[in-house]
Amino acid sequence: MTSTNPDLQSVVTDIANEMAQRSDRGEVASYIPELAGVDANQFGLVVIDADGNIAAGGDSEAPFSIQSISKVFTLTLALGMIGDRLWRRVGREPSGNPFNSIVQLERERGVPRNPFINAGAIAVTDVIVSGHQPRESLGEILRFMRFLAQDSSIVIDHAVAASEKRTGYRNTALANYMKSFGVLENPVDFTLGVYFHHCAIAMSCRQLAMAGRYLAHSGTNPSTGFSIVPAERARRINALMLTCGHYDGSGEFAYRVGLPGKSGVGGGILAIAPGKASIAVWAPGLDANGNSHLGRIALEALTRRLGWSIFGV
Ligand code: GLU
Repeated sequence: MTSTNPDLQSVVTDIANEMAQRSDRGEVASYIPELAGVDANQFGLVVIDADGNIAAGGDSEAPFSIQSISKVFTLTLALGMIGDRLWRRVGREPSGNPFNSIVQLERERGVPRNPFINAGAIAVTDVIVSGHQPRESLGEILRFMRFLAQDSSIVIDHAVAASEKRTGYRNTALANYMKSFGVLENPVDFTLGVYFHHCAIAMSCRQLAMAGRYLAHSGTNPSTGFSIVPAERARRINALMLTCGHYDGSGEFAYRVGLPGKSGVGGGILAIAPGKASIAVWAPGLDANGNSHLGRIALEALTRRLGWSIFGV
């Protein structure tokens, strides 16, 4: 359904137009060629409200590398598999450190601070891998994404996954370090292989906003009526997105935008306005913390205009 909510569509169109004018676009991620080559002039924004109206602006249909946004969905799957036992292997506190920091892991004996820093997401992926072949686990993650987005065309960008693996020295170090403490159950190669591939899933803003709808509506997709997770779990995932979803920029994101959100180094952000909307924005240029520069600015403008910050208007 395209938007029958003219106010929402005009806000989204205005913001997309404003973002197109800006010259401060941040820097695209440069650690792999597939991301380094992305055109920083692109911008996409999609908002899907509770009635299923889709307001879209800019490059809303262009697929991009979702990278760490995938960690929201792997967390959802792992909680579905082992419930609260997950919290024996990963914490729930903001890290205040960069996404791939190793220092904290040593102090905390191999138990990562939260599921959204790389070490935590690798530990979560390990839960999904247990009892399966890596290929099966990856298939399960991809099927889950397609089901949530109601779109079977979503695929993994294998060139991105191969580059992640080739350059993934730091993630390999994190995984080996956790393995030495017994935090990972599976062969490091298996878990990392699945991790690199789920980070390499490519999605458009429309697909991503569709996939996030259960988090905006107490665990259920309001259009299909499918319950994905209990309401309490959706609320808790949102809490983690708010406190940990932007690495060491999480405080700034909460201060400026005021919504649970998860960013990825591909320049995407999934943001949740509880009870109201699922929002996906994509602008490939990043700020110093590795979060989308214009993505955050666009979301700040959106929540201000619509009065959607969870902290008040
Ligand atoms: N695949 C990236 C990594 O593990 C994800 C980082 C991110 O999106 O923040 O380094």
